[in-house]
Amino acid sequence: MIQMKTPLVEMDGDEMTRVLWEKIKEILLLPYIDLKTEYYDLGLKHRDETEDKVTEDAAYATLRLGVAVKCATITPNAERVREYSLRDMWKSPNGTIRAILDGTVFRAPILAAGIHPLVTNWRKPITIARHAYGDMYRDVEAVVAAGGKAELVVTAADGTETRRLIHSYDGAAGVALGMHNTDASIASFARACFRYALDARQDLWFASKDTISKIYDHRFKDIFADIFTAEFEQAFNQAGIEYFYTLIDDAVARVMRSEGGFVWACKNYDGDVMSDMLASAFGSLAMMTSVLVSPAGVYEYEAAHGTVQRHYYKYLQGEKTSTNSVATLFAWTGALRKRAELDGLPDLVSFANRMEKAALGVIGAGIMTGDLAAISTLPQKTAVESEAFLLAVRDAFVNSQQ
Ligand code: NAP
Ligand code: MG
Repeated sequence: MIQMKTPLVEMDGDEMTRVLWEKIKEILLLPYIDLKTEYYDLGLKHRDETEDKVTEDAAYATLRLGVAVKCATITPNAERVREYSLRDMWKSPNGTIRAILDGTVFRAPILAAGIHPLVTNWRKPITIARHAYGDMYRDVEAVVAAGGKAELVVTAADGTETRRLIHSYDGAAGVALGMHNTDASIASFARACFRYALDARQDLWFASKDTISKIYDHRFKDIFADIFTAEFEQAFNQAGIEYFYTLIDDAVARVMRSEGGFVWACKNYDGDVMSDMLASAFGSLAMMTSVLVSPAGVYEYEAAHGTVQRHYYKYLQGEKTSTNSVATLFAWTGALRKRAELDGLPDLVSFANRMEKAALGVIGAGIMTGDLAAISTLPQKTAVESEAFLLAVRDAFVNSQQ
């Protein structure tokens, strides 16, 4: 039995991923680890019973303990309010947790033999980090009638106004928008990215459009550069990794030609667009993990996919499903490895590494869930049910120990 010191914050969730969560613990974790967790049930029913207080409690527990693992959860919409007879349309748990931890989300694909990225030269994972604050997502917009004008007015603390003309709509009507960001938010994004790249021992890329946006985007470039020089350059040199800045269009072109193996920091809109592009190009949402890293150095691990509702309804009818548990398993191993590193537990680090290797080995040997069987290029492959896959991983793990 591998021992732990500090407990993980465990956030249980909904539907098919909740079913997998229990199975992963039962088959792959509890037999080998004296698992210590502080358990929070973020299942929709319990969120409703606690008026969503459990979500906040789980986030504060993460700030206190440092590492959390989270199951996918339902973000309720009107349909879900009826389905679960909810008292309120509770907010997205991920949104609530992110607001409390003030973090940056890093999404990383899991590569396995036989599952090839659509971009054939990508041989290593590309991790994407999205700055989840400001820009177009918190803008103010207006329609301006013909003959009107739009101005940018900045009022200083002492009341002094500076006015700049955006556009005079002399001939025809049009639209305008105002957006903002803060130095503090950009700086905390930059630090999260530098820290993550150091942890992962991978180069960090960042891009904006500073040649066109000479004040706004340039600010991002400058803040990244200042923080790098002052706080991270030495550590990057020691780790043998680089910080690389370029223009966003150049970055996109280079990403396509690269072999992967780096962290790509993106401004809010770029990250929104590029993360979906990367997820689909790497093959499957079910093979994508996601880590929220806060400026305080707190980590929350989860799968990037949702609760796989369609499979759950089949499961409720007594059918066996072939749902991919890899990203959820890697959320657990990622959290355990981070906990182990912080607590100095080499046996637990090696457990996490060996378990991941076992799972990838099983897929490489041709045993996989239906979603992967549909895209795997292996000549011999078998699509198995959810539990059969976990049992195959357990066998591979046990064999790797002997
Ligand atoms: P989803 O759960 O990601 O599933 C969408 C489809 O992708 C599934 O129907 C399935 O395709 C495929 N898929 C995703 N994960 C899979 C896996 N592990 N194994 C096999 N196939 C997988 O997204 P959704 O159905 O749009 O959302 C369901 C619920 O999840 C919603 O209530 C949403 O609020 C929630 N959600 C939560 C999170 C989160 O907690 N981080 C993120 C996104 C969505 P097939 O049906 O074709 O097999
Ligand atoms: Mg998007």
